[in-house]
Amino acid sequence: MGRFKVVEKFVSINGEARCAGELACFIRFAGCNLNCSYCDTRWANEEKAPFVILSEEELYEYIKDTGVKNVTLTGGEPLLQPDIKRLITLLSKDKTLRVEIETNGAVDISDFVNIGDNVTFTMDYKLPGSGMEKAMILDNYKLLKDSDTVKFVVSDPEDLKKAREVIERYKLDEKLQVYISACFGKISNEEIVKYMIENKMNSVRLQLQIHKYIWSPDKKGV
Ligand code: SF4
Repeated sequence: MGRFKVVEKFVSINGEARCAGELACFIRFAGCNLNCSYCDTRWANEEKAPFVILSEEELYEYIKDTGVKNVTLTGGEPLLQPDIKRLITLLSKDKTLRVEIETNGAVDISDFVNIGDNVTFTMDYKLPGSGMEKAMILDNYKLLKDSDTVKFVVSDPEDLKKAREVIERYKLDEKLQVYISACFGKISNEEIVKYMIENKMNSVRLQLQIHKYIWSPDKKGV
């Protein structure tokens, strides 16, 4: 039986990526291997963050009890949980569920791909404004499928330029879904749209982080 350090579990609206606006059951795991400048879940990454230990069966039971079909494994960085493959495998067997793994781009995903076709990745590319760009594992892009998503959170014009370079270099917009979203309070959505128009970024979507419009930007559990 696997053991997972869970700091939060709750049902809310999915704030970003392909299921944005739909209900989702979130499982937030403790700990992260990055320290992004704009992290809004830093509390969950601290050593002293309160957590409960749950097994994969207990998490599955919780998810089924909610009646929600979208499941988001998040953090922190969910793929750092030593037993995470057991949980992903269990969830993948229930074809009524749609499992999204939010990962920060700094963990090798080769051990977690092809577990099930109801499992997808939403992977960050950490831009210079995050302070974490050096940690990106670019080989991950060879493993992503067209059902997966790469997400860029931009803080400033330099980040926009770098996002475009990365999208073009790895042909991400031809392979999968690409989202750009604003680091809240750092750059306007208007500026991002202007940049997209000027650079003819046809296959890229602007992502509004819905939950930050509904609730206070730093509210937990939503
Ligand atoms: S990867 Fe995510 S959880 Fe980790 S520090 Fe960056 S923003 Fe925070």
